[in-house]
Amino acid sequence: QITIDKIAAGEVIERPASVVKELVENAIDAGATAIVTEIEDGGITMMRITDNGCGIEKTEVANAFLRHSTSKIRSAEDLFRISSLGFRGEALSSIAAVSQVELITKPREELFGTRYVIEGGKEKALEDTGAPDGTTFMVRQLFYNTPARRKFLKTPMTEASHISDLLTRLALSHPEISFQFINNRQTKLHTSGNGNMKDVIYHIYGREVANHLLPLDFEKNGVRLSGFLGEPLISRGNRNFENYFVNGRYVKSNILSKAIEDGYKDFSMQHKYPFVAFHLFLEQEKVDINVHPTKMELRFSAQQEIYNLVYQAVREGLHEKEL
Ligand code: ADP
Ligand code: MG
Repeated sequence: QITIDKIAAGEVIERPASVVKELVENAIDAGATAIVTEIEDGGITMMRITDNGCGIEKTEVANAFLRHSTSKIRSAEDLFRISSLGFRGEALSSIAAVSQVELITKPREELFGTRYVIEGGKEKALEDTGAPDGTTFMVRQLFYNTPARRKFLKTPMTEASHISDLLTRLALSHPEISFQFINNRQTKLHTSGNGNMKDVIYHIYGREVANHLLPLDFEKNGVRLSGFLGEPLISRGNRNFENYFVNGRYVKSNILSKAIEDGYKDFSMQHKYPFVAFHLFLEQEKVDINVHPTKMELRFSAQQEIYNLVYQAVREGLHEKEL
């Protein structure tokens, strides 16, 4: 079991940012309204994710670290209509296989919390403890028992910047959740969780971007797009300022980027890559998200329809400004 978990970990856990991604997505799934991520040395020596979500009952704690023990899939069909972020049920087992994990968790309705320690897939402690409502995961010494993987890690600064990018996108896609990121004891990000995407944009990108936003609101054939577009003066030399979320997930998609840039290009000759941050909501059947374990690239079954819709939404957003 431990060997299988180590191999599985290779697919899910590439670097500290993968750990943060899985743990923060679990916190979101747990209904947290505030999530704090603290790291040291780029996460390589220490990552701590604290949430105020539903917590885990003592009897469920060990189960959560078993592969495919997820409660989020009930049938094979669910795999294709999944709306929650996690769906593979192998994140915790994979993380625990290649690091030293300490978990403290308490559901609101319980009197006591639980402390659980698991290192390299081996359970070390399971005991009652006093704890606040919610869950704290402490992950130490990532890849301590897989030196080949550890060797492939980049500098702490680079690993930290991957985590920072990830949390930035999560904060943008969930304005209703307060995100805090503390890197080597310094707070790098702290969003309010007041639900306003514009406030998050202001917090992350500053006034220049936030004061020149055009709202995007578009709906057609059950596909809805909502968010913001930077005015043509807000443009960058690459796609780093293109943030879009499909059914709540940050993704990359050549079709979406092309549609945005084409819509923009026909309006503003001198700029190629706009700032955008928007959500696209569509039937899960139209999306094929499971093309890679890290779920970043996605495909659409109706490419042309999606392209046209995003292109049109961008054109309309820009047009409103002219009027
Ligand atoms: P998945 O998210 O795919 O179900 P994971 O391995 O990521 O699989 O998590 C296993 C289970 O542990 C989750 O299904 C959930 O029940 C529980 N869990 C993990 N993290 C949290 C958390 N922060 N708060 C509450 N429950 C959690
Ligand atoms: Mg998960």
